[in-house]
Amino acid sequence: MNCTILTIGTELLMGQIVNTNAAFLSRELNGLGINVLYHLTVGDNPHRLEKMLKYGLEFSDLIITTGGLGPTQDDLTKEIVAKSLDKELVLHGRTLNRIKDFFKKINRNMSENNIKQAYFPTNSIVLENDRGTAPGFIVETNKKVIISLPGPPMEMQNIFQSSVKSYLSDKSNYKIKSKVLKFVGMGESQLETSLEDLITNQTNPTIATYAKGGELALRITAKGKTDEEIEGLINPIIMEVEARLKEYLYSYNGESLEKVVADMLMAKDITISLAESCTGGLLASKFTSISGISKVLDRGIITYSNAAKIEELNVDEEILKNYGAVSKEAAEAMVIGLKSVTNTDLCISITGIAGPTGATLQKPVGLVYLGIATNKSVLVKKLNFNGDRNRIRNYTIIAALNLIRKTVQREYGV
Ligand code: ATP
Repeated sequence: MNCTILTIGTELLMGQIVNTNAAFLSRELNGLGINVLYHLTVGDNPHRLEKMLKYGLEFSDLIITTGGLGPTQDDLTKEIVAKSLDKELVLHGRTLNRIKDFFKKINRNMSENNIKQAYFPTNSIVLENDRGTAPGFIVETNKKVIISLPGPPMEMQNIFQSSVKSYLSDKSNYKIKSKVLKFVGMGESQLETSLEDLITNQTNPTIATYAKGGELALRITAKGKTDEEIEGLINPIIMEVEARLKEYLYSYNGESLEKVVADMLMAKDITISLAESCTGGLLASKFTSISGISKVLDRGIITYSNAAKIEELNVDEEILKNYGAVSKEAAEAMVIGLKSVTNTDLCISITGIAGPTGATLQKPVGLVYLGIATNKSVLVKKLNFNGDRNRIRNYTIIAALNLIRKTVQREYGV
């Protein structure tokens, strides 16, 4: 079954609201094995709405509309759907009573306009809306189906989950499922090149890479009649990807890097503390977003000034004078100092130039040193990032988490 999603509302075209309805419906329809062919968006204009409905009916089996079901003059969806299908609008008694009850419940007068919401194209299946006054409806014609839902996302989602989903799953024989693998330590083009043959040759499953804010992921999507059939299609691809890129692959189910790293630490009771300079507590913030982390996270200290590095971490003033606060030597002294102050199993230090100011010829913006100390080793990693302050700080956190991940794998065999 093919579908067009038609979202209605001038606000959408003006960029005043984000079209979350289209995204929600696409996700849900994919899960039901329905191919979404088009997202169309149209303002509150009857002629253009009629045109788009005709277009959708010509090129797909199912159209789902959202918006324009309210009581006001510019809410025209029902009128135009009825017109496009050559149907009348008829009063639905049960809906009228429900709307009357709704207004009684919220202690407000029902306006004449609200009666409009109880009219539907003939032979519609009315979809009750217990979160608002505008019900949705399904109307079938010549093997095509139009489903109209209200615009407010909570109302739309509620009607979809309670009525539309079961209606559609009865009509569809297929399911679509995705697995999201996540990678760190490589770029998107490197990921794509390593899997080029798989990406271009596959149709079921389809394989796509995507990168956002330093997160790198591969989505494998398969279509089948049963969960077993879908897994049978997806699993060989996962095994092939794993064989090629195991060292970069950190999650098989879309989890965040901080979650994966935190789980590793918690599984082995590895205590950790952090001394952050240019990231100003971002790493601590990532860790503290994970429930249960208090079991292993001892502390995060923001040692931003030289004085803080000296006072909190016992960094030798001479090191800061001779090499500077952003140096291999400073990162090493910070992490060794942190280890002796906290005595945790694993310590991390971060020092760098996030920019845009503070760079020198020898030390450009984006230069970052990460120090890591365990009970067995002390290591400093030099990194160079480009971009603005936020990007550099964000990539620094990803690199720090990856350094922890790799160190724990190596030293604790996780
Ligand atoms: P109402 O009964 O509230 O009038 P309606 O079906 O007429 O419902 P609209 O008036 O088109 O819906 O939209 C109501 C509100 O719902 C919008 O102001 C907007 O906040 C939200 N909305 C509408 N369409 C979308 C969409 N596609 N994505 C996200 N939000 C939306």
